[in-house]
Order: sequence, then structure tokens, then C-alpha cells
Amino acid sequence: MRTIGLIGGMSWESTAVYYRQINENIRTRLGGLASAKIALQSLDFAEVVALQKNNRWDDAAALLAESAKRLEIAGADCVLICTNTMHLVADPVAAAVGVPLIDIRMETGKALSAAGKKRPLLLATRYTMEHGFYADYMRDKCGIEVLVPNEIDRAKVHAVIFDELCCGIVKADSRHALEKIVQRGKDAGADSVILGCTEICLSLTDDNLELPVFDSTTLHSKAAVAHALGLDRDLDQAAI
Ligand code: GLU
Repeated sequence: MRTIGLIGGMSWESTAVYYRQINENIRTRLGGLASAKIALQSLDFAEVVALQKNNRWDDAAALLAESAKRLEIAGADCVLICTNTMHLVADPVAAAVGVPLIDIRMETGKALSAAGKKRPLLLATRYTMEHGFYADYMRDKCGIEVLVPNEIDRAKVHAVIFDELCCGIVKADSRHALEKIVQRGKDAGADSVILGCTEICLSLTDDNLELPVFDSTTLHSKAAVAHALGLDRDLDQAAI
């Protein structure tokens, strides 16, 4: 089994989900007492958020690149950035190491394409919804046109992520607000919804939404397991 390298802590609430999903997936596949080989760099999220707020993306890239190098030295055979937002610096992080970076955007795009979805609504941080690094990547590499909520709804999603979910707070009224935003996305022509922030799965699930759900955390952790076990990700995605 290959070792999975995680750059986490952004926030640790979602890194805990990755850890559980990856290990449950390995146990389902291999049985018995099998568990995943994982190397983890867990960052101080307060430091990362300070860099985000001050637009210090070069410094954030250096911080994550250093973490990726540490993972490689620790024996990781791949690297995952366990947040959509920080894929804004995916290119310099990938360039810092000799092992593959498993990109959350690519894994999400592949799942959408396999399901024939072309116009997903993106629920994510403001950075992910408003900077080009996500929508441009989806359009150019996956042929998918991402829709984003209106200004007021984007502010709401961003606030729920940072003020609640990243702090371990899950509120029913916020979940209802997110559900209404998804409904408005459907009315605007969305054919699916991307949970494009790794904490949103703590609040929303397929059960409470009217559109097909593509959860970036689940898709990313599945891809890590496929890499760890040397599976053909394209052929085996549905079975993982
Ligand atoms: N985990 C979130 C994401 O997937 C937000 C945290 C961050 O700003 O990195 O985008």
C-alpha cells in the first residue's frame, strides 16, 4: 500500500473527515484490521486565514510547498491539499515535490463528467467562488461551466463556512439557508451542486438537497485511496 500525504488543518474539522473516510474506505476494501498509511501535515488554520485575508498568496504557497516537501521526506507517495480554497496555490505546491498532487478540482470534475453534469452550482468560500482558479480550471480542463450563487448568497455561504463549520458549529437554520441557496441555483438552471468546501459536508448531505450532490471531500479522499491501492481511478471510481 502506498502512503497518502495530507496537508490538513484547513480546517481540522474537515481533515478529521478525510482521516475517517480514507480509513473506512481501506477497511471496506481490505477488511480485517487494515488501515491507511497516512502522513499528515496539520497547519495552524489561524495562520493560513491571516494570509488569505491579507492576499498573501505567495506566502501561503511557500507554507504549503514546505509542508508538501515534509510529507515527501516522510515517505508520502502523493500529496492532497485538504481544502478547495488553497488549490489557488496548487501549481507551486505541485512543483515543489516529485510525487503527484491529487487535485480536488480534477476529482470533482471527473465525477461530474461521469454523471453527465455540465452546470453545477458551486458552494464554497468567496475565494473559491470568485477567483478564477476554480471556475477556469473546471471550464478549461473538465469542460464544465460552474454557476455561483448571487452576491448575498455568496456572503452567506462564506460566513457559514468560516464562522460556523470551521469552528465545529453546525446550525439547523444555516443548513436551511444553504438548502434555499441550492434551490435558487436549481431555479437558475443548475443541474447539480458541488460541495466545494471541505467542511460543507458537515452540514449538507444528498438527503436534504434536490440536486445531485458532488461532495469534494468524499471524492478527494476516494481518489487518495485509489492511488494508495494502485487502482485504475477512472475505471474503478464507482466501486470505491
Ligand atoms: N476547507 C475550506 C475549503 O475547502 C475552507 C478553508 C480554507 O479557507 O482553506 O475551501
